[in-house]
Amino acid sequence: QIQKPKLILDNGLRLDGRRPDELRPMKMEVGVLKNADGSAIVEVGNTKILAAVYGPREMHPRHLALPNRAVLRVRYHMTPFSTDERKNPAPSRREIELSKVIREALESQILVEQFPRTSIDVFMEVLQADAGTRLASLMAASLAVVDAGIPVRDLIAAVAVGKADGVVVLDLNEPEDMWGEADMPVAMMPSIGQINLLQLNGNMTPEEFRQGMELAMKGINIIYNLEKETLKNKYAELKEE
Ligand code: UDP
Repeated sequence: QIQKPKLILDNGLRLDGRRPDELRPMKMEVGVLKNADGSAIVEVGNTKILAAVYGPREMHPRHLALPNRAVLRVRYHMTPFSTDERKNPAPSRREIELSKVIREALESQILVEQFPRTSIDVFMEVLQADAGTRLASLMAASLAVVDAGIPVRDLIAAVAVGKADGVVVLDLNEPEDMWGEADMPVAMMPSIGQINLLQLNGNMTPEEFRQGMELAMKGINIIYNLEKETLKNKYAELKEE
């Protein structure tokens, strides 16, 4: 096994040159697929996700439909070429868990009560994995849902914070995710102040947790603005046409 590298260099910077409170470069685009009702691509550093949404549409098989709300069916999947070592395309336990966690996060975003007896199907493909894929996938899915014209409470903005060599850091890269002391993905709907997803792997003191949450909020605000810009740009383009 490889030895743990130093994650915070002597100059206080991280292995990818970022300060502890800096995000990776991000890119987002909606409406990237013709056949889906809604779609989006989200890139966070080298992590790259494609999401597609179908629905609300009649539920098949029918007996799975609910009389009072839409059913969300959600698949998070890593392509075999998304990682260094070929990933087996069959769904792993991790992918099944992440699909569930992402579904629950989307259930509190989407106004599912407005679409009884229907299904909304959400697919996420990890095209390139470099830490933070669950959150980039959730954001891509949430943008694709909005792109599909499905009513939502708010957009979902998300970022992981954690601890590397004792320093609280924003938006973990892969070595920090692998070797750091803590990894805490946070997703929320900023305008209504609701958390959609919060997980913690590793150990943080209560003070580090507070610091981490503060840092996450800072990142989430920046990401939220980028999401709003992404959607506005799409509608500006449509207007021009
Ligand atoms: N990873 C991988 N192969 C796998 C699962 C994960 O290479 O089968 C890498 C990938 O870069 C991923 C990172 O490990 O982003 C961290 O995975 P984790 O389970 O912490 O979820 P994530 O941070 O992607 O949400």
